[in-house]
Parts: sequence; C-alpha cells; structure tokens
Amino acid sequence: MTADVDVVVIGGGQSGLAAGYHLRRLGVEFVVLDAQAAPGGAWRHAWDSLRLFSPAAYSSLPGRMMPPQEGRTYPDAAHVVSYLADYAQRYELPVRHGAEARAVHRDGPRLRVESDAGAWRARAVVSATGTWSRPFLPAVPGRELFRGRRLHTVDYRTPREFAGQRVIVVGGGNSGAQIAADLAYDAELTWVTLREPRFLPDDVDGRLLFDVATARRRALDAGRTDTGGVASLGDIVAVPPVRQARDAGLLKAQPMFDRLTPTGAAWADGTTADADAIIWCTGFRPALSHLAPLGLRDARGRIPTAGTRALAEPRLHLLGYGDWTGPASATLIGVGRPARDAAREIAALLRTAD
Ligand SMILES: Cc1cc2nc3c(=O)[nH]c(=O)nc-3n(C[C@H](O)[C@H](O)[C@H](O)COP(=O)(O)OP(=O)(O)OC[C@H]3O[C@@H](n4cnc5c(N)ncnc54)[C@H](O)[C@@H]3O)c2cc1C
Repeated sequence: MTADVDVVVIGGGQSGLAAGYHLRRLGVEFVVLDAQAAPGGAWRHAWDSLRLFSPAAYSSLPGRMMPPQEGRTYPDAAHVVSYLADYAQRYELPVRHGAEARAVHRDGPRLRVESDAGAWRARAVVSATGTWSRPFLPAVPGRELFRGRRLHTVDYRTPREFAGQRVIVVGGGNSGAQIAADLAYDAELTWVTLREPRFLPDDVDGRLLFDVATARRRALDAGRTDTGGVASLGDIVAVPPVRQARDAGLLKAQPMFDRLTPTGAAWADGTTADADAIIWCTGFRPALSHLAPLGLRDARGRIPTAGTRALAEPRLHLLGYGDWTGPASATLIGVGRPARDAAREIAALLRTAD
C-alpha cells in the first residue's frame, strides 16, 4: 500500500505528539507513525524509581498541562505515559502504532516513507524518533572480557534484581546518579564517573534548567557570548532520592577505571573491584538510521539544521534530539516551541508548493 499525505511525523513520543498538536492547529493533514505497540515513547521503558526532574506543571506539552500526580511533586514515568496517551486522544492525533519507519527516500517532489505498515508519499517529514533505541557504550579496554551481567540504562528496572550483588554503575549524569542512588541500599555499589560528580544546588530543578537553556539559545542567536548553558551549573539534578542517598554518604564516586577484566574493573594504580554486574549509564545517540538514504549526516553523525529544518533537505525537520534541534528540545516542556516553529515552516512550505 502507498498513500499520499501532506506530512508524515515519524515517532509518536512527546516530540511527535507536540508536532502533531501544532500541525493540527494549522490545518495540515498528517499521520504519525510510531514503532511501539502503545503510547508513551521512551517513558514506557524507564526504571521503576525514575522521577521527573520538574514538577508536573513544568513538564507539559503545548495546550494541556500535565496534571499533578497524587502524593508526588516529581511525577514518575507511568504518570508521563498516561499523560501522553491522554494527550494524543484529546487532540485526536492520528497515531499509527506498530509502524516503524525503515527508510525515507526522495521521490520527485515528495519524500517516500517506507514503514512496517506500508508506504507514504509526503510533502514534508518530521523525524521525532528520540534516542532511547540507540544506547551508547564507550570504548573501554577489555569491555567484552567481563563475564558478569552487562546492562545499559535502558535495561535497568529495579534494585531488587541486584540485592546483595556487587554492581558497578558507570556514568556521572542524571541516569547514573539516580540508578546509583537506587542501588546504594541493597547492592554493594561502586559508582564510577569520568570526573567528580557535579550536583546542582538542591533548589535547582528542571524549571531553572529550561530557563538557562532558553537564555543560552537567545544569547547565541543574538551573537552574544555563550552563557555556558546548563552544563555550567552542574550535571546532576538533586531529585529527592539522589539527595537522600548523597546525604547518607552512599553516593561516593570513584574515578573511571582503566580497563575491564573477566571479573570486574581495574585501575592503573593496581586497585581492582570485582563485580557481578556493570550498568552503563553512558547516554544515547539520535536514532536516525531511517534517514540514511537521504545522505545528510555530518562527521559527528548529526544532520546539520537551521532550527529544526535539515539544511540539505528543506522538506525534513528534526525534533527533540537535543539542543541542536532547539533549546531543551529533548524535554517535555522544551519541545513545544521547536514543534511550533517546525509546523509553521512546514505549513508555509506547503502553501508555496500549492
Ligand atoms: C533517564 C532519563 C530521564 C529523563 N528525565 C526527564 C525529565 O525529568 N523531564 C523531561 O522533560 N525530560 C526528561 N528526559 C528527557 C526527554 O524527555 C526524553 O528523552 C524524551 O523521551 C524524548 O522524547 P522524544 O519524543 O523525542 O523521544 P522518545 O520518547 O524516545 O519517542 C520516540 C518514539 O519514536 C519511536 N520510534 C523510534 N524510531 C522509529 C522509527 N524508525 N519509526 C517509527 N517510530 C520510531 C519510538 O518507538 C518512540 O515511541 C529524560 C530522559 C532520560 C533518558
């Protein structure tokens, strides 16, 4: 089956839904393709204790406030999943679940999107596929030698699985700190970070981070000096469970090890730590393989953009992958504005092509 449509949005997580909201408001015809069987994007796969780093009201998509979660200032991932499901329903966003886009090709005046659920010929495409499906592991000598359990952030669910075990958590970002805090009580934890962990002040949460990211983008856009953005403040939001473990003295980080061995980690000074499991909280890369036929990636694996629009393919917009597609665009509150800008540009493109 091949159908014609004005716009295909690839990805039905928060970014794809925000794009859908704005396309709908502008009267543009579109379909959203999502690889998963059910709503919620990456939030469906979060670990049990994950907490948002902003209160609900500051974690909202355009048009509809996230309702507070009873008994919690910082909602959990299940709350986000229900919010996203409700959002898609409320705005009647045409999301096709179980439709993974495999490839996007140029097809004369259109872009052809091939998916598990058929093909679409679109006048514009929004790619909003996130990063969760592309976990990143750093190259560390001996990484494949280790015989214990090897996991990434995406595989972690609950500390119960590791009770009494020796676990090495690698990574000094929010995932590393939250998972280390989660494990600190039940497991024998070694937390390893590239540099000394940098906790943000306790009263800083996602609200301030968003303001800082926006101020930075404005400064750069206006040609002013780089304000340094969020990274200049610290790396780790001290959400309550992290604060609690840190204050109990349970979150002491070791420097990064030099190599892995069959039984654990080894440092250059001869120190070793045996482990039953290693959890790599070492980040993600944008999931862009469906765009490979367009040949747009630069040496860093990114697609150069002006705002959200791909420089070398103006019918393609990228949404939600990180600051390079809009300030704080990989957050719930931050994706609204770039989604609006992308929808407006697409509507203008469709008008000129009419
Ligand atoms: C551990 C962690 C904690 C975070 N905490 C917060 C927080 O507290 N507050 C906050 O605002 N943000 C937070 N974020 C950041 C951000 O909100 C998420 O990364 C968010 O999930 C990104 O949304 P997205 O829609 O761009 O991508 P995703 O949520 O990953 O959605 C992408 C969707 O596209 C689908 N897809 C992928 N490839 C294809 C394809 N080829 N064809 C069709 N569909 C496809 C996927 O299945 C998925 O459903 C956190 C991120 C992480 C990793």
